[in-house]
Amino acid sequence: MRTITTVAELKSVVTAHRRTGESIGLVPTMGALHDGHIRLVERCSKENDVCVVSIFVNPTQFNDKSDLDRYPRTLEADSLLLEPAGCHYLFAPSVEEIYPEEDKRVFDFSPLDSVMEGVHRPGHFNGVGLVVSKLFDMSNPHRAYFGKKDYQQLAIIMRMVELLDYNIEIVSCPIVRESDGLAMSSRNTRLTSEQREAAPQIYAALVASTKLKATKTVGEVVSFVKEEIAKNPLFRLEYFEIVDGETLEAIEQWSESVHPIGCIALFNGEIRLIDNIEYL
Ligand code: AMP
Repeated sequence: MRTITTVAELKSVVTAHRRTGESIGLVPTMGALHDGHIRLVERCSKENDVCVVSIFVNPTQFNDKSDLDRYPRTLEADSLLLEPAGCHYLFAPSVEEIYPEEDKRVFDFSPLDSVMEGVHRPGHFNGVGLVVSKLFDMSNPHRAYFGKKDYQQLAIIMRMVELLDYNIEIVSCPIVRESDGLAMSSRNTRLTSEQREAAPQIYAALVASTKLKATKTVGEVVSFVKEEIAKNPLFRLEYFEIVDGETLEAIEQWSESVHPIGCIALFNGEIRLIDNIEYL
């Protein structure tokens, strides 16, 4: 595995591989890698001749400066995990390398960005669009790998590929969980032991709610999850919504033609966690 820190080097490496007809896969990450990321890297490596992983804590997607400052940065440990997972190139640029000047582009992801994370993290998805489009341009991949853990982000990236007419296949990968059900996240390392102990209750509430689908209305299921979360004083719910998996619009009733996803965001102490579940 080779570590690359400049855009110029990344472009020249990728161009050389493309010339020989090799396929390129990209896994964009912000580092502090865990098994959720590693699963994406393994799949990328299996499905492409060349696997590029980027580690870049993107300042433009943080609407909370202290969250950006406290975001874990563990490049050395990350690098050790990547090689055995099949990564060929680790792209770990500086902020100046990605943003030599301010990127003033404004994307119109509506209506996908006007709900859930879009409401609670203003500007977040525009920042995601800025960095992911730059990473796509820099690495020119055939395929890019994203986790369903960030379900809304995945929907927005797919929309961006349509809007900007990228010839890139977006590969969506299942959520990887700890054995107690907690969705893996770089932010989990910041939970206190009390918060960590409470955290599996989030997924437990989601799972229990899927079992109510046959007998309860959407409104009743939403209320159930909200009540479960409210039982723990450590939790402060930001939202729980059951949405159409394609349009991300909140649904009012179950129907054969929509693929419902329950999306949750909450503070566990001061750590913000998100998760989601499919209602099959
Ligand atoms: P991040 O480093 O948090 O920006 O995540 C980088 C990529 O890894 C995104 O596509 C995430 O959706 C994905 N990812 C993060 N956590 C998980 C997880 N627990 N399961 C599956 N994918 C994940």
